[in-house]
Amino acid sequence: MNKIPVTIPYFDSREAERINQVIQSGWVAQGPVVAEFEKAVAAHEKVGYGVATTSCTTALHLAMAAEGVGEGMEVIVPAFTFVATANAVVQTGAVPVLADIRRETYNIDADKVRSIINEGYVKQGNSLVNKETGNILWGIVPVHQFGLCCDITEINEIAREHKLKIIEDAACALGAKVGQTCQGGFGNTSCISFHPRKSITTGEGGMVLTDDGELAARMRELRTHGGTVSAEAREKGRGFLLPEFREAGYNYRMTDIQGAMGMAQMEKLDFIIGEKRRRADRYNQLIGEKLPELIVPHVPEGYYHTYQSYVCMLDCRKLGIDSVEDGGRYRNRLLERLEDAGIATRQGTHAVHMLGYYRDRFKYLPEDYPNAYACDRLSITLPLYVQMEEEDQVRVVGTIREIMDQM
Ligand SMILES: *Cc1c(COP(=O)(O)O)cnc(C)c1O
Repeated sequence: MNKIPVTIPYFDSREAERINQVIQSGWVAQGPVVAEFEKAVAAHEKVGYGVATTSCTTALHLAMAAEGVGEGMEVIVPAFTFVATANAVVQTGAVPVLADIRRETYNIDADKVRSIINEGYVKQGNSLVNKETGNILWGIVPVHQFGLCCDITEINEIAREHKLKIIEDAACALGAKVGQTCQGGFGNTSCISFHPRKSITTGEGGMVLTDDGELAARMRELRTHGGTVSAEAREKGRGFLLPEFREAGYNYRMTDIQGAMGMAQMEKLDFIIGEKRRRADRYNQLIGEKLPELIVPHVPEGYYHTYQSYVCMLDCRKLGIDSVEDGGRYRNRLLERLEDAGIATRQGTHAVHMLGYYRDRFKYLPEDYPNAYACDRLSITLPLYVQMEEEDQVRVVGTIREIMDQM
């Protein structure tokens, strides 16, 4: 039996064509093609500016650094997310504060954010100060997990009420919408990823999207070592003097080779999302018919899910399993046997508080964030990609049914 991967990127001849043009031009570092790619992505998401980076992790770090996040500050992030969300906060010198999620959407729970603020912080002037650490709460980095936007209206409301800032981790959510509003259009800066696991890819890569022109300019400076003139502009003008460097910046530049791949991918972004949505609907149908023990992804009214990943939950009640631990062991045995049958799956993502660095530093217990913990143990990402055939989906669901019947 041929193997079914968890995902694969979707390419045609256009990627190689555009990359070849870049190579032939002789300019392969960040240049005109990255600028073109930034405009294309920003236009698609109806946002003023795009600032390309080497990854979403560096995009998050760049955006936070440009906004002045640093030591003595705290940032609320969801407890169920890829570790990079929290790592980017740590890289600024600030402290991540975890908030639990809602199991139905895998997204940050606005009520939990409110209770963290109300219980842990006191108002001093315009700031919220942590009663124990004395740190100032800078803001929130909500995540649009797996391509489904979080409850951003509620999160924005909390931020407005408490004068907090927001940077959205939209790593998985390029193309996602609430109503007619694209992610990136919710009034905040947002960061997307072009890793091959996401909707479209540049190999590695990321981008910050913002409507704030001054912030975009500042991020461009910090992205290129804190220099005030881009290498390209310098090359085209008088090149013998190096530009002024006002601060110690970073090198987070995307190459034009990656930008070229990104441009070719942008041509098919809407097609890719449409094909994945169609396959997600098919999974919903097949699972509805054959696998009542799986809870399919929930999409709230008016939300446009892009299915970066199709993530289900084991329904322990229907399996007659009493604890999350037992459910987790069952899930792992199931995924192991699926792998043996040539079907690749993954846990959805991880509970940050259970990862070594965070567990050790903050002495977390599993029950500190029960929903994140349950999703860590009980979630299953099923294979999903444009090239996936109908019969592959039937085989995935049928094989899970067979294995479950034997377990
Ligand atoms: C993938 C991902 C990231 C990291 O993106 P990279 O481009 O690989 O750095 C950050 N946050 C979330 C939620 C992700 O899924």
